[in-house]
Amino acid sequence: MSAKIYYDADADLSLLKGKKIVFLGFGNQGSAQAQNLRDSGIPNDVILIANQQDSYAEAAKAKGFVVEHDFEKAAEVADVLFLLIPDQVQPRVFNEKFAPKLKPNAVIVIASGYNVFYKLLNFAPTQDLVMVAPRMIGSSVRSLYEKGKGFPCFVSVEQDGTGNGLPIALALSRAIGATKAGAIASSAREETAMDLFAEQALWPNIIMLFREAFSVLKEAGCSDEALCYEMWMSKEPAEIFERAAEDGFIAQLKHHSTVSQYGQLSGALALDGVAARAHFKDILYNQVLNGAFCKKFSLIEADLEKDGQENPLNELYRRTEETELAQAEKRVKARLGGLV
Ligand code: NDP
Repeated sequence: MSAKIYYDADADLSLLKGKKIVFLGFGNQGSAQAQNLRDSGIPNDVILIANQQDSYAEAAKAKGFVVEHDFEKAAEVADVLFLLIPDQVQPRVFNEKFAPKLKPNAVIVIASGYNVFYKLLNFAPTQDLVMVAPRMIGSSVRSLYEKGKGFPCFVSVEQDGTGNGLPIALALSRAIGATKAGAIASSAREETAMDLFAEQALWPNIIMLFREAFSVLKEAGCSDEALCYEMWMSKEPAEIFERAAEDGFIAQLKHHSTVSQYGQLSGALALDGVAARAHFKDILYNQVLNGAFCKKFSLIEADLEKDGQENPLNELYRRTEETELAQAEKRVKARLGGLV
């Protein structure tokens, strides 16, 4: 199943002419996307940054943007609204301040599928809801644009209230620089499934594998220093993934020694993956796609603003930092100081 890919030639920037474009949030993505859009020729006087009065607002003003602190006023004038504040606060801010005041034909742009897939945003049926979701952190969205390069991005129309959702989504994608390298047709469901799967299935297993590998090798007499360097501080894993992106996931193996290639390929083929597949399916279907995680997360969301042990994230960090790997790394960093 191959996805459609949209390029600059598929997008018509003139569709944005005369439209007031509001960015809610000037953080990681907001600051990068607003600057890219302006540098693509969208006049500064049709761009408005909605942000409370603080350092983010000051950063926007320093870049020459007009800032509105009153969210309801920003909502009233928006033809296009980029929703670029953290996912967990979007429903409250959007539903309370923006939804009641937005124009009936406004275009709402999300950069992550989460709140739309789990139906947490109250937009009107006449409005367009489009996803333009860069697969990069904001600083890379900006630096690649400045270098004249594109960046990977997902695009979709989740609700086509005006009948013009796709052309507008593509025009906005082009304006932020996302169609230069090709924007991949996707959906809020696909984006959410892959994102949460990576966060809740793939990476937890990788963290667990490193944790257990560390303990086994330490038990066999390896030193903390040697292990930390061997396993990640040398940046070898980062290099492997960089090569995987450039040469290919399997082809990068050719850069390793023959002993290593033989060990990796034969070892991976010897693992049947049956238990892992069952575990992955369980997370995907019974935790991500059925909304169970979203429901559970909404119960602890408010506690994430708290300090100390009452914050469940702090508690998870505390427990994780007790593991042998984390303790050893702390000792090594303290001992090696400048070397690390
Ligand atoms: P940030 O954490 O960088 O957002 C910070 C901005 O949100 C600031 O302007 C901040 O202003 C504002 N903000 C925070 N809390 C509130 C609030 N309660 N009310 C109003 N404004 C608030 O977000 P990101 O840029 O990381 O993420 C934005 C979207 O982009 C998300 O949907 C995310 O999933 C998506 N995305 C993020 C990527 C990333 O690399 N980070 C990659 C791709 C997509 P202030 O504190 O002044 O209120």
